[in-house]
This record gives sequence, C-alpha cells and structure tokens, in this order.
Amino acid sequence: MRAVVVDRPGSVRVGDVPDPTPGRREVVIKVGACGICGTDLHIADGHFPPTPYPIVPGHEFAGEIVELGPDVRGGWAIGDRVAVDPSLFCGYCDPCRSGRGNLCANWGATGDTVDGAFAEYVAVPSATCHRLPGELTYAQGALVEPVSCAVHGIRRIGVEAGERFLVMGAGTMGLIMQQLLQRAGALVTVADRNAGRLPRASALGAAAVVTDPGELDGETFDASVDCTGAAPAIEAAFDRLRRGGRLLVFGVAPEQERVSLSPYRFYNDEITVVGSMAVLHSYGAALDLVASGAIDTDALVTHSLPLERFTEALDLMRGGTGLKIQVVPGGE
Ligand SMILES: [Zn+2]
Ligand SMILES: [Zn+2]
Repeated sequence: MRAVVVDRPGSVRVGDVPDPTPGRREVVIKVGACGICGTDLHIADGHFPPTPYPIVPGHEFAGEIVELGPDVRGGWAIGDRVAVDPSLFCGYCDPCRSGRGNLCANWGATGDTVDGAFAEYVAVPSATCHRLPGELTYAQGALVEPVSCAVHGIRRIGVEAGERFLVMGAGTMGLIMQQLLQRAGALVTVADRNAGRLPRASALGAAAVVTDPGELDGETFDASVDCTGAAPAIEAAFDRLRRGGRLLVFGVAPEQERVSLSPYRFYNDEITVVGSMAVLHSYGAALDLVASGAIDTDALVTHSLPLERFTEALDLMRGGTGLKIQVVPGGE
C-alpha cells in the first residue's frame, strides 16, 4: 500500500510499504480521512520523544473496516464505518490502574508510537473503534480526536453557565474549545495575534475577539484556556484572570519552555492552574457532540489533500495556512 513514512527526523516521504495484517482483536481500517496536527510536525522533526522511527504517522482518523483479526469482539463487521480513538494505554501501570490512562507510564498512540493512518490502511485494536453514524462523513469522523482532547480539557477546568472565558488562539483547537465552552453556557472572548483568524471566531459566536488581550481594557475572566503553547500567551491568559480564576494549559509548549507567573496571585487570588493531556474516556462523548452538530465542522476543515501530496500538506500546516488540513487517501 501507499503510506507516508518518516524514516528518521527530517526525512518524510510517500512510498510503498507492506499492507498491515490484523493481530489478535485488531481490525484493518481503509482510511477515509486523517487530520494533520502539530504533533505530526513534531514527529516529522524528531521533537516528539515517544516516537520510534521509521513510523507511519496519522492519529486523527476515520474509515471503513475491511479486515478482521482473530478474536475480534464488539460485533464489528467488514464494511462498518468507524472513527478511531488513537489511545493505546498499557493497562497495568499505576496511572492506568487508577483510571488515568492518558498519563500511562508506557503511553502509546496509533500514529505516534505505532504505524498510523497517513496510509491507505491501518491496523488498530477493535476496542478503540467507535461506530460512525451514517450521517457523518469521514472528514467529520477525523475531527472527533481533536474534539475529544478538548472535551477532556473542559472536564479538567470545568465550566458553569454564564462564566466568562478567554481562549488564547483561534486555530483548530481554539475554535473547537470556543464552541464547546459556548455550548456549556460560557461567554467566550477569543484572542489570536493573526487577525485573519478572528472573523471565524466571531462568526462562531465569540463574545469578543482581539489580537492582543492588552486591548481588553481591564476586562477579566473567570477562566482562560491557552490553545497556543506560547509563553507570552500563557502569561497573558494568567494575567487576565479575576480573583478565584482558573487557567487551563491546553496548548503544547516546547519541553524546555518556562513562563513568568505571579506566585503572589496564586496565593492572594486563589488562582488554579490545570493541565490537560490528550484523550481520557472522552472519545465517545466527542463523537456524540460532533454527531449532534455541536461543532461546525465545515468551518474547521479548510484543506483536503490526497496522500501523494502529504509533504505539501505539511508545508501548509507549517506555514499556518488555513485551519484543519486533512489527508484523504481514498480521494474522498
Ligand atoms: Zn492531533
Ligand atoms: Zn499504563
């Protein structure tokens, strides 16, 4: 089959690799669509520590079951349309055994630590498959994974009706976060240095949009969510919190990055800072939300490219062009 192969950091190609064969309790999926995200750039560049090389990346995907391995449970059949939770938790480490598999000591994910879905076919555990409702396209199914990360993040920070939120970043994740928070009754202000991204946030119902939280003229928030991973944005998100406020660090910063936050405010204003890592029992809920129309998926998927143009897709992503870029191996 054809697949994207990262042979080693910095070396990305589309080439021929053997078709996957399903192991015990695995199924083979014919990939319908697979989204590119920041993690794929990190994998291509060698900046994602868990990834071994060579690897076929791709962890945001949906497709059709075309082969069943031995002992597959769950009633799956050839032809079933599925979206796939990429999580591969070991099940026996302490975090797994205490219900926090996303913090697994042996963390893995399809497309991050084993071959993924920038390919015609991918083998996955049948237990990670979720049935894709008939009205959803594969493009929509491939958005469930980023939505499931946002669902986990929102569960971490919490939201109540009428709360004012500041979301830093109007990329795919920021706009997903915005929509889910609004759905929960929050009033959301969205900030992004790139003014070209703000009209979309406005169209999706933002209470206000700004290129710089400094423009907000003293306005403060019950909670803020950083979806950029950039230190100045995290600091601005913190500085805009009112007393008793909460900050969710959701964007992925480089491992060595440091931020400057006032410990006096942690103390005096009882500020809470929480982190959120990937997906935890949130994939099914995200699929239901996408199916219910809670997320405007048309507003998010801006590019759809065939597998053979993967490096071009990667360059678009790197250049910050558009929002979600998806690869469609079958040419949907
Ligand atoms: Zn991703
Ligand atoms: Zn584990």
